[in-house]
Amino acid sequence: MDINEFREFGRAAIDFLADYLENIRERPVLPSVEPGYLHELLPTEMPKESENWKDIMKDLDSFILPGLTHWQSPRFHAFYPSQTSFPAIIGEMISAGLGVVGFSWICSPACTELEVIVMDWLGKFLNLPAHFLPSDPGNGGGIIQGSASEAILVAVLAAREEKVRQMKKERPEMSEGDIRAKLVGYGSIHSNSAIEKSGLLAATKMRLLDSDENSILRGEIVQQAIESDIEAGLIPYVCIATVGTTGTCAFDKLEEIGPICKKYNVWMHIDAAYAGAAFCLPEYAHIKEGAEYGDSINFNLHKWMLVNFDCCAMWIRNANALTESFNVERIYLDHKYQGDSKAPDYRHWQLALGRRFRSLRVWITLRTYGQDYIRSYIRKHISLANLLLKYMSEDERFEVAGSSLALAFFRLKGDCSLSKRLLDKIVERKNIYMIPALFQDKFIIRFVICGMDPQEKDIEYAWNEIKTVADEMFEEIKK
Ligand code: PLP
Repeated sequence: MDINEFREFGRAAIDFLADYLENIRERPVLPSVEPGYLHELLPTEMPKESENWKDIMKDLDSFILPGLTHWQSPRFHAFYPSQTSFPAIIGEMISAGLGVVGFSWICSPACTELEVIVMDWLGKFLNLPAHFLPSDPGNGGGIIQGSASEAILVAVLAAREEKVRQMKKERPEMSEGDIRAKLVGYGSIHSNSAIEKSGLLAATKMRLLDSDENSILRGEIVQQAIESDIEAGLIPYVCIATVGTTGTCAFDKLEEIGPICKKYNVWMHIDAAYAGAAFCLPEYAHIKEGAEYGDSINFNLHKWMLVNFDCCAMWIRNANALTESFNVERIYLDHKYQGDSKAPDYRHWQLALGRRFRSLRVWITLRTYGQDYIRSYIRKHISLANLLLKYMSEDERFEVAGSSLALAFFRLKGDCSLSKRLLDKIVERKNIYMIPALFQDKFIIRFVICGMDPQEKDIEYAWNEIKTVADEMFEEIKK
């Protein structure tokens, strides 16, 4: 491909995306394909000769689009949003075009420094405790990780290494192997699967503690777990509190868990993957009460702040904990500015060596929208979720089980099998997409505002779909 073809292909790709996104409502949100469909359509070997981009675009349309689940459709109400936006798409394209890899400051100073700056902007915008901010005189700082799972794993590994260092000083008679074998971390039964996985990957126990009747992890439960584990000879080292659980967006009580973590010298990580975006709203300040105890925190811009996947913001109280834990020296990685706090070598803060220029699309997106628009955008999503509940509250067959931010959850009154049957039928029709969760041991259906540019008409559409399927189902039951 030469430079002229690149220009042509690039323009065509933008047009293709603009058409796709503009008309996304016309497509069923879920695809109608069976496993293996693509294997039947594509050749089993890569082409020997080069192919023209126009043919490739045709195949994208014919073969790839029919196999997509349309995450940007405002009729997608499953999981949590994984949004994109026009400026983020452009930012992604430009960073791919610049093709820099910023594992240390010298590898591309603007790549590192822009990340420090946008992480400071974001920390201030979310009203995070000052100790996390790069501009604070302490050792705090921020980094953009690929996903919440990576951020949580980095926090868990850093916490583990801190505890090992501490125990080696306090209990020199213990071998390092003995210390590591006794480490135990905590999350809640409602924490994301990433928490359990981080324990597996860190090769330590990770206990999932019971939450209260509203799926909230409380301080007392954490305290009991820590005390009983200490009595059993174990070494508690990390506790992951979730602000916005995946099932029902419940907020663990940071203000109760924090002091307990502090008392027992346990690292508190806060997973605010979805709900963290709402920290920018003064009316939701209460959900981050207790964040001042946090040793690290993550939230996904790729969920609810207009930047496409992958983009997870992570802040840490003491960045030295990362460099002390993950610093591996090589002559080819040395440079004369290393150690300068304005020029962090992010390779020490993450799993991989190489890293993408993610801050570019964050910078472009935040500048394009600005604080006021982002706040209004998040508020709009919350009000759209409430609109569904308003419609639903007028139909006595439904029970509104709860709502939190832009997630509403509901069930059909009566046996859980009714709600399950309703959801199966809705998903089969592919017009809207929702997934279930358990709340107070009951099957509930989650409805999350997702996709690009959701409108009131999308909520009306969803409610009509839910109601129509319920009507049909109750008709069938009557027969
Ligand atoms: N934590 C919470 C609360 C989540 O809801 C999710 C995903 O939905 C994750 C972590 C994992 O996020 P990621 O896919 O960025 O690893």
